[in-house]
Amino acid sequence: MSAPMLQVIGDPVLHSKSPVIHAAMLAQLGLDIPYTPHVVPKGGLPDYLPWARAHNVIGFNATMPHKEDLVPLMDQLDEDAGRIGAVNTVCLRGGKLLGYNTDGAGCLIALEQAGLWPRDRAVVLGAGGAAKAVALKLAACGARQVWVCNRTPAKAQALAAADPSGILTPASFSLETLTQLCAQAQLVVNCTNLGMAGCGQFENFSFLDALPGDAGVFDLIYHPAQTQLLIQARARGLRACNGLPMLLHQAVLALEYFLDRPLDREKMARAAAAALDRSGQ
Ligand code: NAP
Repeated sequence: MSAPMLQVIGDPVLHSKSPVIHAAMLAQLGLDIPYTPHVVPKGGLPDYLPWARAHNVIGFNATMPHKEDLVPLMDQLDEDAGRIGAVNTVCLRGGKLLGYNTDGAGCLIALEQAGLWPRDRAVVLGAGGAAKAVALKLAACGARQVWVCNRTPAKAQALAAADPSGILTPASFSLETLTQLCAQAQLVVNCTNLGMAGCGQFENFSFLDALPGDAGVFDLIYHPAQTQLLIQARARGLRACNGLPMLLHQAVLALEYFLDRPLDREKMARAAAAALDRSGQ
């Protein structure tokens, strides 16, 4: 049997920050387990999974286009992966495939650390994969009302329909609606691509004026580190946090699953952040 290893699979995947993050955490723990990127094209999971077993891959992270396709292939799914319908972490243990999703929990830890959670009412911008993980987690962890505002209304409706509690409510992405909802919310979470390097930008930030003074703004984007949304939020005296802590904490949680033991999360996140800094990523 070859030595145990960890991987991240996807297509594209070579740009992924996960190898730097996990290598730093493994080094901090003194563990000599390689964590490598592995290109697996769409439809390639039936070939990859037996390969992984044969090569003693003890766990892997998954990015696009595999998160949804992994769900029916798992022997066991954790609550978040089942709720979201997407897997980002897989453990190969005892001949079984165990699927997890750490995005929502990673976001919640980041929100708590930034003093932005708990909150009763939140506005989630976007209805893609990240918005689904975040909105469903907020609804499962104490929010009383979460509005899902999306450019494409059908996607907001589909996301809200995935929440049996009725806490998620679909809404439009118009300035008028955002302004109305912000007047009732204590947290805005940007899960769109708007503000990301190379993507579009919010046309207007005046909806932030409607937020109460103790509200917070969390942007899932971490490149650039300071998005216009965060700059505009801080200019209004609001608490604001970017997506880097979420990225780090979803990885720490994944490593806890891979190693099957609790870790010093802060120590792990600090080691990973320092490694990202050094690598210029
Ligand atoms: P996705 O599934 O492609 O969803 C993209 C979302 O952005 C959709 O709701 C889309 O609306 C919206 N959008 C895109 N362009 C827009 C525009 N011009 N105007 C209004 N809405 C627009 O992507 P994702 O995987 O959810 O990722 C979303 C963001 O979260 C990315 O920036 C990603 O880097 C970030 N992210 C961060 C972390 C982290 O750990 N910090 C984790 C995951 C994702 P439509 O439905 O109308 O197209």
